[in-house]
Amino acid sequence: MKRREFVGGLAAAAGVAACSAPDQGSQAGADRSAETFEWSCVTSWPPKYPGLGIAVDNLAERVEKASNGRLKIKVYGGGELVPAFEAFDAVSRGAVEMGHDASYYHKGKIAAAQFFCSIPFGMNAAELDGWLYYGGGLELWRELYAPFNIVPFPCGNTGVQMGGWFNREINSPADLEGLKMRIPGLGGEVIQRAGATPVTLPGSEIFTSLQTGAIDATEWVGAYNDVAFGLHKAARYYYYPGWQEPGAGLELIVNADAWASLPPDLQALVELACQAITTDMLAEYTHGNAQALQQLIDDPDIEVRPFPDDVLRILKGHTRDIVDELSAKDPTWQKIADSYYAFIEKSTPNQLATEVANLTTRSL
Ligand code: CA
Repeated sequence: MKRREFVGGLAAAAGVAACSAPDQGSQAGADRSAETFEWSCVTSWPPKYPGLGIAVDNLAERVEKASNGRLKIKVYGGGELVPAFEAFDAVSRGAVEMGHDASYYHKGKIAAAQFFCSIPFGMNAAELDGWLYYGGGLELWRELYAPFNIVPFPCGNTGVQMGGWFNREINSPADLEGLKMRIPGLGGEVIQRAGATPVTLPGSEIFTSLQTGAIDATEWVGAYNDVAFGLHKAARYYYYPGWQEPGAGLELIVNADAWASLPPDLQALVELACQAITTDMLAEYTHGNAQALQQLIDDPDIEVRPFPDDVLRILKGHTRDIVDELSAKDPTWQKIADSYYAFIEKSTPNQLATEVANLTTRSL
């Protein structure tokens, strides 16, 4: 509480959080190397959580070390300073300088934000980076968040997720009817059209909800994170692929006034750290998922299985309908969707001829 008041008061008083600015040096070329900054970063993750939470801790450590202590970032887990899903609002109003979360959590406010995290049947991690950094995606993202006084940075990717945990078999589209499933974002709307009831819960509440039967199914991330939450102890069937999130990109969001207050070298450092975290998080997931999925495959109480093709076809059809309907009524959505799908169309033949063909060849 004390911290909250401090942060809020600071933001109200100064709008930004330069702790010392001895030479008032904001003009170009001024020596700003003596200025120090102490920032707060709120997240949507449990503190120190594998993958998602560790990544943002790493970011804070690296930035502090590489800046020789000039930029210190204190990281808060979801609920420690603000509730798990309120990072965006806290950063927008300047209560804190920084946040780390997933852009699809803001879909109620900005539907098109979902493209920058993950869209069902959409881009994988490599494609998302290709589109963001070289295909105009990042410019569209910055434009989308500008009215909220937020500058977004790609900061992490989970890779292709798993379809999730189910306490009953999914053998046909009819098995989705009446299913109560934790699944956020557009994926939730898709399963709603298939007759299920989507629920949005922060990660910390998933296990208990599944175990008590409050929900029948859940997706979370992939084997590495799912095992960390013990989800394999709450349901028997583990389905793939994660059609709902084929490469969830995370975001570092920075209050635009706070960002403008940073000297150019510290800005460059934050950008480099975000790129490093994206690489590092994917490496952590690639390694952790490999071990955890093998553990699940070997577990006699768990059945790891693919969704039937006709179920995936139905879900893909609903996804296309929802995307088209949103394009018809939301010009911002349409502009971003057009760019996103134009890149997917170009990228798919290459992915099939390289990544997919390589993996297929490996198992010949
Ligand atoms: Ca997920």
